[in-house]
Amino acid sequence: MSAGSAIQIPTRLPLLLTHESVLLPGSTMRTSVDSPRNMQLVRSRLLKGTSLRSTIIGVIPNTSDPTSDCDDLPNLHRIGTAALAVQVVGSNWPKPHYTLLVTGLCRFQILQLLKEKPYPVAEVQQLDRLEQFTNGHKSEEELGELSEQFYKYAVQLVEMLDMSVPAVAKLRRLLDNLPREALPDILTSIIRTSNQEKLQILDAVRLEERFKMTIPLLVRQIEGLKLLQKTRKSKQDDDKRVVAIRPNRRISHGSITEDEEEEEDHDDVVMLEKKIRTSSMSEQALKVCLKEIKRLKKMPQSMPEYALTRNYLELMVELPWNKSTKDRLEIRAARIVLDNDHYAMEKLKKRVLEYLAVRQLKNNLKGPILCFVGPPGVGKTSVGRSIAKTLGREFHRIALGGVCDQSDIRGHRRTYVGSMPGRIINGLKTVGVNNPVFLLDEVDKLAKSLQGDPAAALLEVLDPEQNHSFTDHYLNVAFDLSQVLFIATANTTATIPPALLDRMEVIQVPGYTQEEKIEIAHRHLIPKQLELHGLTPQQIQIPQVTTLGIITRYTREAGVRALDRKLGAICRAVAVKVAEGQHKEAKPDRAEVGEGEDCKEHVTEDAKPESISDTADLALPPEMPILIDFHALKDILGPPMYDLEVSERLSQPGVAIGLAWTPLGGEIMFVEASRMDGEGQLTLTGQLGDVMKESAHLAISWLRSNAKRYQLTNASGSFDLLDNTDIHLHFPAGAVTKDGPSAGVTIVTCLASLFSGRLVCSDVAMTGEITLRGLVLPVGGIKDKVLAAHRAGLKRIIIPQRNEKDLEEIAAHVRQDLTFVLAGCLDEVLNAAFDGGFAVKARLEHLNSKL
Ligand code: ADP
Repeated sequence: MSAGSAIQIPTRLPLLLTHESVLLPGSTMRTSVDSPRNMQLVRSRLLKGTSLRSTIIGVIPNTSDPTSDCDDLPNLHRIGTAALAVQVVGSNWPKPHYTLLVTGLCRFQILQLLKEKPYPVAEVQQLDRLEQFTNGHKSEEELGELSEQFYKYAVQLVEMLDMSVPAVAKLRRLLDNLPREALPDILTSIIRTSNQEKLQILDAVRLEERFKMTIPLLVRQIEGLKLLQKTRKSKQDDDKRVVAIRPNRRISHGSITEDEEEEEDHDDVVMLEKKIRTSSMSEQALKVCLKEIKRLKKMPQSMPEYALTRNYLELMVELPWNKSTKDRLEIRAARIVLDNDHYAMEKLKKRVLEYLAVRQLKNNLKGPILCFVGPPGVGKTSVGRSIAKTLGREFHRIALGGVCDQSDIRGHRRTYVGSMPGRIINGLKTVGVNNPVFLLDEVDKLAKSLQGDPAAALLEVLDPEQNHSFTDHYLNVAFDLSQVLFIATANTTATIPPALLDRMEVIQVPGYTQEEKIEIAHRHLIPKQLELHGLTPQQIQIPQVTTLGIITRYTREAGVRALDRKLGAICRAVAVKVAEGQHKEAKPDRAEVGEGEDCKEHVTEDAKPESISDTADLALPPEMPILIDFHALKDILGPPMYDLEVSERLSQPGVAIGLAWTPLGGEIMFVEASRMDGEGQLTLTGQLGDVMKESAHLAISWLRSNAKRYQLTNASGSFDLLDNTDIHLHFPAGAVTKDGPSAGVTIVTCLASLFSGRLVCSDVAMTGEITLRGLVLPVGGIKDKVLAAHRAGLKRIIIPQRNEKDLEEIAAHVRQDLTFVLAGCLDEVLNAAFDGGFAVKARLEHLNSKL
């Protein structure tokens, strides 16, 4: 049924009462039917009717049907639209209702209401689309000018819309094909009009009146569109596409909920785009992001790449492209912060202050990267943290231990499933500023693998000439790292790749002496642990001698980490006692306190009334602190782990104490030798490296060549020490690999003791490389080695003469406790290692025997 041809509606029409929308002839409307009268109409007329006539109903606008059946019919609007019911859809949810699709045919007016129930039926008079209107050209001529004007506006309006949308193109065609008198109704229902305006158009039965009323509505819509286009033009091109794409996306999805979700998501994307535009990212990054967001908009959400792209864009927005904290560097304040946070480590603090001072004066960060090298637990990380604090910068630690893939530093390319940015970019995202202090922890533990060399990637990060345009594979655009302050830490420089080491200024952080450890414990560690466990100094007291006990008998380390842990264990134990004590105090009955094993122990240990384990403790008033003495220590930490075993182990010939350096600090090392009948073989055990094995051979050769001089003989009295004799040398802690030349002097001393049958002094330790001619050459790590000897309670230390300068680094109080023997050749070493000297006594003995 074309909109132009004449129609004839029945004279009696059932009436559908609508309230919210107005149906105009020539347009289609979907309306929900749920009131009793309307439902009845649908059921008995539309669903049961069989003829075309029965699908024609009268739609009366602006009249709501009362919700209850018995209510009187309201006043009906006089004019309505005869409509064809095209589709009826029923549903029971959320309540029974029908959704009706109706197409308007023509106007009618109610002449007389014939019945009200179960639905209203009226006698009606058709008002337009009658024979006399459609075939007479008279009206068109009369209205010529008005209708022409209307037509022009309509064309103008439609052409302002996006012609690529099929519905718009169809509308444009309809404008030419439809009779002019049908246009006002159709256009009114398309353009943005209120119900009131539509109602006025419906009531305008005369065509002339209708044209006159619709033209201003068209003009208003055209002006509105013009304004919209003007504002859109001022925006970027891309914005237009956003608007254009929206309808397309909707068409592709049918259901309403999906539509809503899409919409929401789309809004998110628009938000994201806004964020991208307002973020301060570099021009290059902005370009990439805009390209990506364009792709994102076209991508269905279900595509895996959608989430990938979105994550990428979100990261890009979050990165601190231009956000930084303001440096508040004041050298005097920095010195105070460093001193307050750390005891001792004067050299390190001095160098850090120099570094910061240069920064303050020069106001730029180009320069070597500081690398703190030292055993674990000596405060490398915490100095890094203090530096960030003094500068007022954010701090972020990047652990590099075990990193063997360069993508860990530089990120994975986005083509890779599960791709993500590297640790540097991740760190920047975490701290949210572009000038943090990054602590690259354990650079010496970087490993290589098939996935590339992470050290090479770090080179780019650390090089001030390159790092202003660091390109993470994931981001794929440059990020400026030049404002980041990098600090590295390592246990040893030996395993740091040389190219990386070259970019860093190494600052050695040696281990602590016992006295320093005690100070650190009492100034820093104990207060920290107390706070951590909710204790106060009024509740627990750890005297210095107990701390010393923990240091010597429960820990053997260069740093203070194990000490810190032990103190933590003590605090935990005390916390339990304190909490228990408070609990018991609340209850008057204290009879059971101290029952069980604890109690039995205390009965025998009544000599130490202050002990934590003492029953009496728990009965103490809360203000009496729990004193940690050796017995309490034993209760809490168990029996001592390390004994001062030095003298015991040196009770036989063939044992000497060497000093070794390991990445964990200095250590004392017992070298043991034994001989047995054999064919002159040398057996070495204890996981030795090649250099150490060679030292052993050197030592034997030197002793064999000097056997006569020192009167050294094998078991059968021959000066050929290996004649019918096998020698076994063992370096205990057999599971730990050892290497290096510095054990040379120790091996010589140990073998000299074995062949001479004399005991090496029990308080002597030594280090030094040897030559075949018996010279002693300098070695490294003297400070750590001396500290280890001091920790172990040794008194005399033999070091190579040329290492004398290294002694200056050692604290005065440690030096006071020790006697240093500076040896230039092996004679001097042996002389110092044996009581009463070696060579001289050997000669005397020889002389004696001659006599
Ligand atoms: P590293 O990084 O060298 O392995 P950390 O910085 O993690 O060691 O230090 C371990 C703990 O020891 C930290 O709690 C730190 O505060 C403490 N510490 C180490 N040295 C000192 C010191 N000189 N003064 C105060 N506390 C220290």
